[in-house]
Amino acid sequence: MRKAIERHDVVVVGGGPAGLAAAIAAREAGADDVLVLERDSQLGGILNQCIHNGFGLHTFKEELTGPEYAARYVDRADELGVARRLGTMVVDISAGRVVTTVSAAEGVTRIAAGAVVLAMGCRERPRGALATPGHRPAGIYSAGTAQRLVNMEGQLPGREVVILGSGDIGLIMARRMTLEGAHVACVAEIMPYSGGLKRNIVQCLDDYGIPLLLSHTVVDIEGRRRVEAVTIAEVDEGLRPIAGTEVRHPCDTLMLSVGLLPENELSRSAGVELSAVTRGPVVDQDLQTSVPGIFACGNVLHVHDLVDFVSQEAAVAGLQAARYARGPQTPDDSRGIPVVAAEGVRYTVPSHVDPDRMGDSLTVRFRVDNEYRDRHVSVYLDDRRVQHRRRRIMAPGEMEQVVLRRPDLLAHEGLSRITVKLEEA
Ligand SMILES: Cc1cc2nc3c(=O)[nH]c(=O)nc-3n(C[C@H](O)[C@H](O)[C@H](O)COP(=O)(O)OP(=O)(O)OC[C@H]3O[C@@H](n4cnc5c(N)ncnc54)[C@H](O)[C@@H]3O)c2cc1C
Repeated sequence: MRKAIERHDVVVVGGGPAGLAAAIAAREAGADDVLVLERDSQLGGILNQCIHNGFGLHTFKEELTGPEYAARYVDRADELGVARRLGTMVVDISAGRVVTTVSAAEGVTRIAAGAVVLAMGCRERPRGALATPGHRPAGIYSAGTAQRLVNMEGQLPGREVVILGSGDIGLIMARRMTLEGAHVACVAEIMPYSGGLKRNIVQCLDDYGIPLLLSHTVVDIEGRRRVEAVTIAEVDEGLRPIAGTEVRHPCDTLMLSVGLLPENELSRSAGVELSAVTRGPVVDQDLQTSVPGIFACGNVLHVHDLVDFVSQEAAVAGLQAARYARGPQTPDDSRGIPVVAAEGVRYTVPSHVDPDRMGDSLTVRFRVDNEYRDRHVSVYLDDRRVQHRRRRIMAPGEMEQVVLRRPDLLAHEGLSRITVKLEEA
């Protein structure tokens, strides 16, 4: 017999830092019945395998490890009585907010949600491996998989390591493998700039004498059963390998840290509009997606550099989800005013804003498309510049933000476009 459908006010999909902060905010905003669904056997998400410190500097003014940061949110969720189901995989979300789950304990369950918060995090890109010639021997790991093996399962994936890609996980794993007694020959990055935070380049590579080879990539992988060597070559401006620059590095392990992608299968199944740039949902000032009552936050929305920003953003999604669930909702067909990313700005989150529905101020987050020195971040309301802030250095690996003030937006009659862009001076 088919089970009766359950009902909950706010259903949060994913129990990582985004899901936890959203659930806490929803509960604090008065939603009585908040349920977190997590496929893993514990809450905390990717933070559970991040045993290095550096988390929570903004939120707690302390340097916490990943599990410590997560524990603070789990404790708060416990205090507030946030319900959770672990070992529970969400397999479908309908546009009408019916969430289908599968678990060993309960089998298939269907839950009708007053509001849904998407907080499924992201996955690692495999791209670097697929584009590289050679066999597919053992010894090729994504950096996140290697991190899980070392930090949670007590396994050392290799002893002589080359890392392709300079995303934060790769940088952190360069240090981790060195501390565990492995030798990391180099980190090769195809772009002329690193994809990771400056502080991670200093603390994880420079401090350990590990070279970062910018504008370099892996052009060959040797070994049939196990990796025996990789060849690295310099690339030209078109990212094509330059003949004659090849250097062979004998090694037993190649780690890939070539970027992260929002985990968006469920967003798709719910019919949520996705951004071609972030690959996460398109959202408004409430972090509501194109499907009413479905909100998104954390790495499923856009890939973050610092968890503090994940928590801040998720609190907005949780609060708005609680409000939505309380209803009644007036149908709102207007998408608000578009926030346009231009000249050096790759995207903005949110991508449209309704000044009548926003709070006194709104944080708009974005990333730049290259390394820039001594540029100004400018905000235009139509053709009028209202912000012009100098930044000494900006890089794609670091998230940037501007704060929009509601009175400014309301004072601008007939506002049709908000533009965020970089300018020389
Ligand atoms: C290696 C590494 C190092 C980092 N270092 C730092 C650092 O030093 N400082 C810092 O501030 N930040 C750091 N970060 C960034 C920070 O950890 C992330 O930004 C943050 O964890 C993202 O939170 P999230 O909740 O969006 O995603 P996640 O932490 O990935 O959580 C998503 C959760 O959703 C669950 N889930 C996914 N799909 C489903 C489904 N279908 N059903 C049920 N559950 C599902 C997953 O199991 C997971 O628990 C690091 C990240 C990594 C990967």
